[in-house]
Amino acid sequence: MEGFKTIIEPFKIKMVEPISITTYSQRKHYLESAHYNPFLLNSDQVMIDLLTDSGTSAMSSEQWAGIMRGDESYAGARSWRRMKEVVHELTGCPYLLPTHQGRAAERILYSYLGGKGKTFISNTHFDTTRANIEFSGAEAIDIPIPEGTVPSLEHPFKGNMDLKRLEALIAEKGAQNIGAVVLTVTNNSGGGQPVSMENAREIGSICKKNHVLFILDCCRIAENSYYIKHREAGYEHYDYKTIAQEMFNLADGAIMSAKKDGLVNMGGFLALRDKELSEACQNLLIITEGFTTYGGLSGRDMEAIAIGLEEVFEPDYLVYRIKSTAFLGDHLTSLGVPIIRPVGGHAVYVDAKSFYPHIPVEEYPGQALVCELYLKGGIRSVEIGSVMFGKYDEAGKLVPAAMELVRLAIPRRVYTQSHMEFISEVFEKLLPDKESVTGLEITQEPKFLRHFTAHFRRL
Ligand SMILES: *Cc1c(COP(=O)(O)O)cnc(C)c1O
Repeated sequence: MEGFKTIIEPFKIKMVEPISITTYSQRKHYLESAHYNPFLLNSDQVMIDLLTDSGTSAMSSEQWAGIMRGDESYAGARSWRRMKEVVHELTGCPYLLPTHQGRAAERILYSYLGGKGKTFISNTHFDTTRANIEFSGAEAIDIPIPEGTVPSLEHPFKGNMDLKRLEALIAEKGAQNIGAVVLTVTNNSGGGQPVSMENAREIGSICKKNHVLFILDCCRIAENSYYIKHREAGYEHYDYKTIAQEMFNLADGAIMSAKKDGLVNMGGFLALRDKELSEACQNLLIITEGFTTYGGLSGRDMEAIAIGLEEVFEPDYLVYRIKSTAFLGDHLTSLGVPIIRPVGGHAVYVDAKSFYPHIPVEEYPGQALVCELYLKGGIRSVEIGSVMFGKYDEAGKLVPAAMELVRLAIPRRVYTQSHMEFISEVFEKLLPDKESVTGLEITQEPKFLRHFTAHFRRL
């Protein structure tokens, strides 16, 4: 829509799902019952659910039609062949392993490549990626570029990996001890920030030179391609899919949670170039996921993924997607709410440490903001800080995460502009008495991925 400043949703609504509107006192009760952890809320206690953009997309009428066409044959299903063709064309990888979601692909690949003494290197490992690597006994090291960890700093490709540190780490650990280099596009935990083609190309050649496996964690490859086209010199005239194909071409394989840019509610895959590696992974696939032509998926899921992976590269969709996220981020910036700049593709990340400077990191300022957003406006968000990534040292003292963020993840094709305006208004209402907000302490937590189930108490 050239010449207009209003970006309209490039779709019409054909089916609606009611949101239950709650009162402040109801939400107070719900949050207490959920031990101040919104992961433990029921979804119908939430008005606007920004917990995640994962598996929360609205499918298109084409995808729903595909659901009906799904071929549920155990072996060699038509829907499998369709998904395989689409993924093959996109990634160029000859071997495809379908999985029920991204982490299943991660478990298969990283349990095979991992183990004690192995090191994995990433711009930033996503939480399930890190958990799968560490569970195998290997270590996971994050090396974002320094600019990537300064929330207020503007940089076109804050998701980039630090190449000097990559070379130094490979030399220090020994190339044979590197399980894989994992490039997350866009960089989810690092702020939904894009990775440039140049950075990916350099990583590819460093990996090749050292005979180290290079894996793309490509959940948001279409969103990343948008930024390359609009920010990286030389890509102005490329279409989004061609850009994605060029990036896949640099890697030895890819892991995708199709719950993101696959525009589906469930699904994922592992795509590989190497025959031997893919055969080893296939054995693990059959043990825990399913036969090689469906993995953990129904035929209808594979059909919907095939369609979603094509729709996600449509220019009208991608422009709307990126601009509607930026619309929310720019509104928050104009209110003076500190967010990671520039705004990422799938989410707005609020810098909770500077929003609540009076709350020490040991009292989880991010979790405090998550609770306030719910209490004030029924908005569910997620802390990405020391609750998610904090560790304890030997003395039991918290080793905090690099940043204390709150992620407002925007589901794809689900909410409209008025929902985005409402979210801004909720922030506006949080501003006047923000100094009176207190932190939290953890009263109960599991060993891995504690943010999902931890219980908190208000201080
Ligand atoms: C979501 C996600 C995963 C894990 O995928 P699931 O489908 O949730 O298991 C891995 N990496 C990144 C970057 C993700 O965003």
